[in-house]
Order: sequence, then C-alpha cells, then structure tokens
Amino acid sequence: MQTTIKTIPILPFGMLNAFLVTGAGGPILVDSGLPGSAPAIGPVVKAAGLEWNDIKLIVLTHGHIDHAGAAAQLRALTGAPVLYHAAETGYCMGEKPVLRPTRLFGRLFRMTGAIERPFPPVSADIPMDGNIFDLKTLGLEGTVLHTPGHTPGSVSLLLPSGDVLAGDLAASGILLGGIALRGRPERPPFEEDPRLAARSLEELLSKGTTRFHLGHGGPLGAQAIARHANRLKQL
Ligand SMILES: [Zn+2]
Ligand SMILES: [Zn+2]
Repeated sequence: MQTTIKTIPILPFGMLNAFLVTGAGGPILVDSGLPGSAPAIGPVVKAAGLEWNDIKLIVLTHGHIDHAGAAAQLRALTGAPVLYHAAETGYCMGEKPVLRPTRLFGRLFRMTGAIERPFPPVSADIPMDGNIFDLKTLGLEGTVLHTPGHTPGSVSLLLPSGDVLAGDLAASGILLGGIALRGRPERPPFEEDPRLAARSLEELLSKGTTRFHLGHGGPLGAQAIARHANRLKQL
C-alpha cells in the first residue's frame, strides 16, 4: 500500500498542522492539535475513507499544547495508543513548558499565556526512551527518531518515502507559519536549543530525507532545511 500524508489544518493557512499518514499496517495520526481539535480532524479521517477506530497509533512530536492538546480526546475517540518520547513526559502531563522566544512574535505569543494554558494531560501508552523506535514492532510503517532541540523530547516520524513529519524542529512562513513566505524556513516561535535543533535536522538530512512536513508552515525541501540548519549553528 502506497504511503500517503494528508495535512490536517487545525488552523487555516498552514498556521497549525497535524497529519494523517496512511500506509502499510494502518493509519497513524501525527499530533493532535489544540484542545478540542477533534472536529477539525474528523473530516480528514472521513475523507480518507476511515473511521476513528481505524487509527492505529497517535504519535506526538512533542508536548506543547498546540500538538498534544487534544491527544487525550483523540485517544478516547480512536482507542489508539499514544506514543511520545519519555523526555516529553513532563509537558504532556501538565508541566509548564520552558519557552525561549525566538523573535518578537514568540514574545508576544508568550504574553498571551495561550501556550502555557493547561490541557488534558496525556500519558504515553507506548513509551520511547531511546533514539529510535521502529514502528515495525507495532506492524506499522516508519521510524520514530528522537530529534531534540525545539524541546528535549521532540521526535520525528521518518517514512520510507523520504518524507519526515518533524513537528516544530523548523517552521516556515510568517507569524505561526503560513499566510505568506511558506517556502522560507524560520525558527518556530519558541526553541529551547537551536544548536541541538540544527544537529537533529542534519541527522534527518543524513538519512536521505527529502521533504519536511512541519507543524507550522511547510513542507520544506532538503536544501531549505540544510540552509536553515547552517543558520542555526551560527547563532
Ligand atoms: Zn512546539
Ligand atoms: Zn507548535
């Protein structure tokens, strides 16, 4: 079965994306969006000819509210297990995130308090504490790689096609991604460790990744990501 990646617009204009990956073994939901996002995700699941309980796995790229906020709701709807990295447990279970704004937008965004709002905590049904988790062990396609930098426990789902779902390891466009300049890589509004993010991006490139699907803006090609990683290393 051909693997397909469907972008789920949690917010319009690419400002916030989740993803539905359908491939051998069954569909995977990557990220859940903000709390209460099920009505935004449902139509994409339906359009793919699927029901909620067809979803086999929910992967959270990291524990920020805009990615993990609806995970508990979606687990209840789908019955699918949730996988995230052990280093992200605090954020997924209600700890306030460390927010290092990368630019004015991040500082303004932090002032709204929106990203620090509590959300329904979500435990990991499938804990991952190493650098690599081959989904073959679950009968699914793809590899989850520990790609820290944006947060300590950020992960990326790498598919055999060379596509990667990399969460907030990079972003593109203005504001929260989208609207304009979507082809231009940007740092996400918050980033805990840019050098570590650069190393993670380079690791993904070294594995032959050709297309980076992102939580905000995107997708971006390998060249744009390589340029972005170089820029991060100069910071
Ligand atoms: Zn984030
Ligand atoms: Zn985000």
